Parts: sequence; structure tokens; C-alpha cells
Amino acid sequence: MTLIIVKSPAEVEKMRHAGSLVAEVLQMLREKVQPGITTYELDQLAEKQCVKWKARPAFKGYGGFPFTICASPNDRVVHGFANHDPLQNGDIVSVDFGLIVDGFHGDSAVTIPVGEIDLETQRLLQVTKESLECGIAAAVPGGYLSDISNAVQVRVEQAGFSVVREFVGHGIGRKLHEDPQIPNYGAPGRGPRLKSGMTLAIEPMVNVGLSGVRVLEDGWTAVTVDGKLSAHFEHTIAITDNGPEILTQVIK
Ligand code: MG
Ligand code: MG
Repeated sequence: MTLIIVKSPAEVEKMRHAGSLVAEVLQMLREKVQPGITTYELDQLAEKQCVKWKARPAFKGYGGFPFTICASPNDRVVHGFANHDPLQNGDIVSVDFGLIVDGFHGDSAVTIPVGEIDLETQRLLQVTKESLECGIAAAVPGGYLSDISNAVQVRVEQAGFSVVREFVGHGIGRKLHEDPQIPNYGAPGRGPRLKSGMTLAIEPMVNVGLSGVRVLEDGWTAVTVDGKLSAHFEHTIAITDNGPEILTQVIK
């Protein structure tokens, strides 16, 4: 039984605030990424910012996850641990970050190029970002949940890349992970109907090669089975009468 919690306008406003802080952190990290920086340094920057805002990192301690950000370079898909290895020119690094403030969560991810990346890698990032935009565009009142999944999958596969199936997007609110689960593949027109006030984290994970992933011995880090690159983009959105609203964006 899927119970999708519909938020009041006042609750969506709190999530707008949480989302804008998440977006500010990711923007700051994006500006810091360059060859030589480590993911541990990025993790510390994110954590310091949370302390400053009196916001709580959402991932640290979640199921025992040990860091503020998930840092997943190159063939790492999601849930990577920050470490002291310097990022190299030509790498990509997926950074996933969430926080909770005033009782509500924001959750967003971006894949960031390190220095100069090659054309195929640029195309991977572009297509993954576009697949997220396609998924968001399908999040309209009266639509079906799986319309989002299908929109993501179609964009990814028409570009010749593959969608990761082991991890999914999710409802979000007072909890980091609420119903429903949102796979990044599937036929349209299925599952619950979408309603104004639903808040969802949509998050395609896209592989250059095979769709398969495996989890390393740390119990968290997911890597591609073929060692090829993977990208991840995520936004927390609210479904409104006027269509989808991205909550994880910087409010000027
Ligand atoms: Mg996330
Ligand atoms: Mg998420």
C-alpha cells in the first residue's frame, strides 16, 4: 500500500527553504571542484555550511552512512564515501547532498566535471540532466507516477545510454525517503495519480555502458559492473496546480 503524503502550502514553503539551502551548498561545491581537491574536502565544506545554518545533514548517520555528502567519481554510481584521493583532470564526480531544516528535507545531486572532460563524457552529463528535466516535466497533476519513470528512460535510451534499475527516486518531506518509489524506467500510465502538494525527489542514474551495478565491500558504494562512467542528477520538486516546481534551486 502506497501512502503519498500531500503537503500543505505552508509545508511546501518549508521545503522550498530546505531545497534552496541544498542548492546553495551544491553550487558552492561545484565552484570548488578542480583537479587536486579531494572529496573529503568537499564533504567538510558541506558540513561546515550546515553547522552555520543550524541545518542537519540528512545522510550522515542515515542507516549508518558516515558522511555529509555522497561522493561518487567516475564509475561510482551513487553512495560513494568521501576520501583523500585528489580528483584528476578529466574525472567526473557525482555529489549527492541532503539536509533537514525546520522539520523538512531537501535532496539533490549533480555530476560535476573536473577540469576538462572529453566530448562523450560531456554528452553523458547533458543527457542525464535532460532526462531529469523530462521526468520533472511529466510531474503534473492528473498524470501517473510512471509517466515520470518513462520520460526519464526514453530520453536516456534514445541517446544510447542505460538507466540504473537498482536505485530509485522517492517521495520526500518530513522523512528523507517517503512513498512512492520512483523507478527511472517503465511503461507510462501506471501507478498512483499525481496530485498538487506531492513532493518528490526525481533522480536518474545513467551509465555509459551496461546498466548493471554492484556494491563494494564497504556496503554502500555502488559501481558500474563494466567499470564505465555513470552520472546522477536529482532535484526535489513539488507538484503544483501550475505544474512542477523545482525546490532545490538557489533563491536569489
Ligand atoms: Mg540525493
Ligand atoms: Mg534522493
